[in-house]
Amino acid sequence: SPSDRVFNFAAGPATLPEKVIRKAQEELVDYRGSGMSIMEMSHRGKEFDGVIKKAESDLRELLGIPSDYSVLFLQGGATTQFAAIPLNLCSPEDSADFIVTGSWGDKAYKEAQKYCKANLIWSGKPEKYTKIPSFDQIQQTAGARYLHICANETIHGVEFKDYPIPAGAGAGEVLVADMSSNFCSKPVDVSRFGLIYAGAQKNVGPSGVTIVIARSDLLGKAQPITPVMLDLKIHADSASLYNTPPCLAIYVCGLVFEDLLEQGGLKEVEKKNAHKAGILYDAIDGSGGFYVCPVEESVRSLMNVPFTLERSDLEKKFIEEAAKEGMVQLKGHRSVGGVRASIYNAMPLAGVEKLVAFMKDFQARHP
Ligand code: PLP
Repeated sequence: SPSDRVFNFAAGPATLPEKVIRKAQEELVDYRGSGMSIMEMSHRGKEFDGVIKKAESDLRELLGIPSDYSVLFLQGGATTQFAAIPLNLCSPEDSADFIVTGSWGDKAYKEAQKYCKANLIWSGKPEKYTKIPSFDQIQQTAGARYLHICANETIHGVEFKDYPIPAGAGAGEVLVADMSSNFCSKPVDVSRFGLIYAGAQKNVGPSGVTIVIARSDLLGKAQPITPVMLDLKIHADSASLYNTPPCLAIYVCGLVFEDLLEQGGLKEVEKKNAHKAGILYDAIDGSGGFYVCPVEESVRSLMNVPFTLERSDLEKKFIEEAAKEGMVQLKGHRSVGGVRASIYNAMPLAGVEKLVAFMKDFQARHP
């Protein structure tokens, strides 16, 4: 029954709308009268063809994706794209610039070094990844092929609220963004980007599928060593069916896209997300220092809210007691510790309200 479900604050794989999971369950054994499960049928059959086409067209509608962009459903996680992107957009001699605002951007930068001249043009590491730079302070590299950002740092809770313009935009340089942890959490002007990529397993589905949205004219120039599975042009030309795609994961993403459209689209979704995050940050900031969020206020993530307790000796107890009350997976990433509440699209307002009430109660019990 619905009451068996906890409030799951995991960073990913993460909570999904219960409605979507129940629909998937209902159709799991016999997909819409086909007599087969989605996981048993050919990816080239008419049923799956309908699934992937509908998922793509709903995603195009949600994000207003221009027609000159390809939408790809791939495997390998966002981590595979850390390599695929330089392989597709650069020759080994080409430069690419990286603004690193957290651990994920740093991983993307380090992987790209193997395939192009990757330049670290700004790093938030000295300030423990609590900031986004102001764009006019950044010295970009002339002739770079792309400028890479991680739009939302899942571990550090730092989110771009606006986007930089690549210095060589007129000469073909493009902005590339890892949107794994804020994909479809708010409207995005896709035309400002050359390429957007996101692992699905936070806001839009289960793990196993990675979505790439790429301006079509950028594809087709991959380095000769590029493995066929990392060549985005090959996937674009075969409509994500070059080889067997992650069928079940794509199907669930499709159900999530339908749900987001039913909610009124991403503007509505953003309003809900801003409200939820607002309540939580207010509780942290209003605690008189009992709870502390280190991230600069103007760039705090609407999706991942990291915080610490002034008395760090109480953190373990906080997390354990919350779990007993049905609020689970609140432990901060192993690299930073503390507490992290991931409040993706599917986290109900009631979950955040319950967490905030628990935080106040916990504080009152530990004067
Ligand atoms: N980028 C961001 C922002 C992430 O949060 C993650 C995973 O948590 C990744 C990349 C890596 O994704 P994957 O595990 O799908 O390779």
